[in-house]
Amino acid sequence: MADYNRVSLKERYEAAMVLSGVGDALGYKNGSWEFCHSGKQIHEEAKQLGGVDNIKINPKSWMVSDDTVMHLATAEGLVEFINVVESKGLKPEPQERMYLKIAEKYKTCMNDMTDRAPGTTSMYSCPMLNPSRSGGYIIPFLEWGRGCGAAMRAMCIGLFYPKPEDIGNLIAVSVESGRMTHHHPTGYLGALAAALFTSYAIQGKPVKSWGAGLMETLPKALQYVKDSNIDVKDNVNAWDYFTNRWTEYLELRGIFDGLQDPKFPEVFGVKERDAFYESLSDKGWGGSSGHDAPMIAYDALLSYDGTWPDLCSRSMFHSGDSDSTGVIAACCYGAMFGFYGVNKNNYTNLEYGERLRGLGEKLYAISNPSDTGVVENVQLEDQD
Ligand code: MG
Repeated sequence: MADYNRVSLKERYEAAMVLSGVGDALGYKNGSWEFCHSGKQIHEEAKQLGGVDNIKINPKSWMVSDDTVMHLATAEGLVEFINVVESKGLKPEPQERMYLKIAEKYKTCMNDMTDRAPGTTSMYSCPMLNPSRSGGYIIPFLEWGRGCGAAMRAMCIGLFYPKPEDIGNLIAVSVESGRMTHHHPTGYLGALAAALFTSYAIQGKPVKSWGAGLMETLPKALQYVKDSNIDVKDNVNAWDYFTNRWTEYLELRGIFDGLQDPKFPEVFGVKERDAFYESLSDKGWGGSSGHDAPMIAYDALLSYDGTWPDLCSRSMFHSGDSDSTGVIAACCYGAMFGFYGVNKNNYTNLEYGERLRGLGEKLYAISNPSDTGVVENVQLEDQD
């Protein structure tokens, strides 16, 4: 097993992308685990397969789902945009050409959804995108666009804008990419949370402070949405739900200030987690909305014992929308620790594994041009 203190930033980028796909594939299990409403049953089946470490992920039995196909689309949109602009060594500001490139990728990736259980909101919205005309990335406000489809594909935005000073750009791109399909704050703020948490993972910010960081960022996002002048009234009217649910959650865990250690129930096993995740949800399917997909991923990152199999147990093997919570949690794990502690069975033959790794490498090179390759110490947090 590799020494996690010897993980380079480049490997962390690659692992963030590759393991996001692994989290998706494990949570999905060709649909049978994503749509299984019993964490207990999923755990029993995983045990019969020899446990997480023995699961040989392959493109046939463990396809990646819509989450990864759309995450690839976001990442490829960002990387290809950089290739077509004359950046003169500087990363260009977010702009319409970037959004149109992402919209083009979202539209075309819908051709790769056979057997991947694409979300209904993205299927509805993508045909409305028109990447060949100005403003063609904007769709009307969508009252029911609250699902997790914007969140599950946004982590790479945090890899593209990993630094604290990038926050304005991270907000703009996560909101705009999110509302290309999910034009409702509950939907696109999920994209903001997923991107922000991934940037925090790259920064090495303590996990217990990520929620407080999100709360500090939300007013800035609201200001961005007001300034953007797109359906402002509808967005402002629907704004508070996401903030309120996150406030309740952070208060429950005792980490609203981001300084205290999180509080968990004494017994918080598979059954208790299923019930808790369901209690966070809108309609009984934990992780299926923009607010609770990053929340469940975050809860798993706060509570797991520091090992990859336990993170899988908490973020991927539950009764809710398990691929979308898994894709976010696994991306953050990779961004912190690289492939440390992950059995090669899980990722050697992952579908689109090389595409994901290549994008990780490109995102690293674009976003960290002055990285010397010197290995930083990455400390696993005390998760007791
Ligand atoms: Mg999926």
